[in-house]
Amino acid sequence: MPQHPPAEPGMPEDEIDTPALVLDLDAFEHNLDSMAALLAPTGAKLRAHAKTHKSPVIALQQMRRGAVGQCVQKVAEAEALAWGGVPDILVSNEVVAPRKLARLLALSGISRVAMCVDGEAGVALAEQAAGAAGRRLRLLVEIDAGAGRCGVQPGPEAVALARRIAGSPHLEFAGLQAYHGRAQHQRRPEERAASIASAVEHTRRTVEQLRQQGLDCPIVGGGGTGTFLHEASSGVFTEIQAGSYAFMDADYAANHDAPPFRQALFLLTQVMSTPRAGLVVVDAGHKAAPTDSGFPQVWQRPGLRYAGASDEHGNIAVEGGAAPKLGETLRLVPGHCDPTVDRFDWYVGVRRGRVECLWPVAARGGMA
Ligand code: PLP
Ligand code: MN
Repeated sequence: MPQHPPAEPGMPEDEIDTPALVLDLDAFEHNLDSMAALLAPTGAKLRAHAKTHKSPVIALQQMRRGAVGQCVQKVAEAEALAWGGVPDILVSNEVVAPRKLARLLALSGISRVAMCVDGEAGVALAEQAAGAAGRRLRLLVEIDAGAGRCGVQPGPEAVALARRIAGSPHLEFAGLQAYHGRAQHQRRPEERAASIASAVEHTRRTVEQLRQQGLDCPIVGGGGTGTFLHEASSGVFTEIQAGSYAFMDADYAANHDAPPFRQALFLLTQVMSTPRAGLVVVDAGHKAAPTDSGFPQVWQRPGLRYAGASDEHGNIAVEGGAAPKLGETLRLVPGHCDPTVDRFDWYVGVRRGRVECLWPVAARGGMA
């Protein structure tokens, strides 16, 4: 059950109930504007990834700045967006459960939807569900662009699957999904450039082979916050799927040549114990801050280091400067923004030190 909001509009930031997910609205809006400005000269469009924000409120702000739609990873996220008024949604992932396929097809009555497939068996399941629903389902063929996750091999294997889709009365071939996940956090810019150069070549070759068979690719999608400028300027990709750019996190900031976005998402936490010199304890532990990309970092307090966590405690080592006082609040920069958002029911939007808005994390949690 969603919890009561941790704040009210107008309240000063340091009175927000902690731990809380705080969005610095000036930085967030700067990021949305910057992405729109960076993509404008390339001709590629943004289809922002909503697995990061899980919020139709944020999706619609991205779309007001020119995004053509949203990506999601799960049917439950597609539902939250479609019910919230988002008109164009791509599940950038495979869906195989008949019940989930039926839910996705039901959404196609209120929103334009598509999903990915990477094999004949997946196509057959999609075809069966679409036939039963009496609706046409739009499918993208996912190719392995180099990440070694989902996807058929580029070239003939992808072409054969596209032909199979195009030949079905219940399905529509909508293009290629070619996301290279492993490249996003390669630290050196040359490594990322090389990974995407290879992904672009595989994708270009596949698009050409499809064309030779008379099959058009209305969508060629891929690209994340670490590499999107390469995909966008390739002349091959039509849609960019970056998600984290809106918020940023410590992992992306650690890329050499970090992407040109500001840190907008914070975990607000409160000092609840000052047990001895050199240590203060805050109320954001493992349950507030996932650590798959390392511990969160303390924002703009150089002498403080988040050094350890247990379920509901975070240990902050005081290695220089004044120790924060009991009751004081600190902003933490999440190691990885996506799973951090998923721990909270509400965004608390803050501008110039005051709460301005409360947005639900509408598609939070759930495995569907
Ligand atoms: N597209 C797909 C299919 C993804 O799985 C992801 C992230 O994992 C992204 C795009 C890009 O996300 P981000 O910009 O948050 O790194
Ligand atoms: Mn991520």
